Amino acid sequence: MGLAGIPLGLEFTFLDPSPDACAGTVGTLVQADFSDTSAFRRLAGSVDVATFDFENVPESSARSLQEIKPVYPSPEALGACQDRLHEKNLLSSLHIPVPDYHPVSSRTDLLDGLDKHSYPSVLKTRRLGYDGKGQVIIRDQEDLERAWQKLGDYDLIVEEFVPFEQECSLIGVRGIDGETHFWRLTRNVHMDGILALSLSGGFDQGLQKAAEDIMRRLLDHFAYVGVLTLEFFLLDGQLLVNEIAPRVHNSGHWTIDGAQTSQFENHLRAITGMPLGSTEAIDEALMFNWIGELPPRDRLLAIPGVHWHDYGKTARPGRKIGHATLTAPNLVELEVNARQVADAAGSNFPVLLKSIF
Ligand code: AMP
Repeated sequence: MGLAGIPLGLEFTFLDPSPDACAGTVGTLVQADFSDTSAFRRLAGSVDVATFDFENVPESSARSLQEIKPVYPSPEALGACQDRLHEKNLLSSLHIPVPDYHPVSSRTDLLDGLDKHSYPSVLKTRRLGYDGKGQVIIRDQEDLERAWQKLGDYDLIVEEFVPFEQECSLIGVRGIDGETHFWRLTRNVHMDGILALSLSGGFDQGLQKAAEDIMRRLLDHFAYVGVLTLEFFLLDGQLLVNEIAPRVHNSGHWTIDGAQTSQFENHLRAITGMPLGSTEAIDEALMFNWIGELPPRDRLLAIPGVHWHDYGKTARPGRKIGHATLTAPNLVELEVNARQVADAAGSNFPVLLKSIF
């Protein structure tokens, strides 16, 4: 986001608990915990407007900042997305389809929920879950006992396991004046619950419009300002919302190299009151996430259309430390070059690519 803002003439102060947060290379870094409300107040003194790119920043911290400077998206929108039960209740109240769900605060609640959805079901923590963390699939009685031992101390929900055909996400942006744009619906492939591949487009206009209609209801509900992401399951041609992310999203990283205006630039334009840029795609685009380790950079850069993004983060198993977006003027070329990228990147990429091409 900082990289996208510098050409717009913006300057940044970042707050992060880590002293070596990579954002520190493009602005001032304030090292503080996300629950340190006095640090948030100090931060408010040094900026004109504030935003976040992580949805587990406590709502109370965002509110303490908002007492001093504008915060977009609103702390209310942030808070609504921090608890899976509240999130699903909100979506249901707006008549947006979600997987069947059931709140769980005791073992009896879990058994009641399983009576309703039967096996398989997914038990999830209501708070602080992402990238498949804090969730367990329950396929039988044994899984149930294991899941309860692992997660029984938390507030939970149990939801039906959706045998989806595909997963996709929509990213949209709304300005302070209500102007709204959407990028292409993006097809996502996960590996162990973590996003591995995102292909821009490839859906018919009807589905694109259905996803946009769903997102408009949320944008209007919150009078939202900034970038919003919806993650969907696609089942029998219908969209079910899995999750709302009140922020720029990993599945939108392809927009940096594959769209007229990236999600990061438009988020900054929205929160600073600038006119929004076009969200039209300029090329076909496929993003590869580098999880745990970086593949051989120079081998990949030798493939036409590869755009390399190294976050400068320390490699750790399961950690997203970079990505590459492959762009091409058409899908035929994209597929040919994507095979080369997958072969060079190794890991499970050649197998995962088969679910796309
Ligand atoms: P989440 O953290 O809720 O986004 O879940 C991470 C991934 O787990 C999703 O992208 C899906 O691949 C899978 N998943 C989550 N919930 C369900 C569900 N109810 N049915 C099937 N797969 C799910």
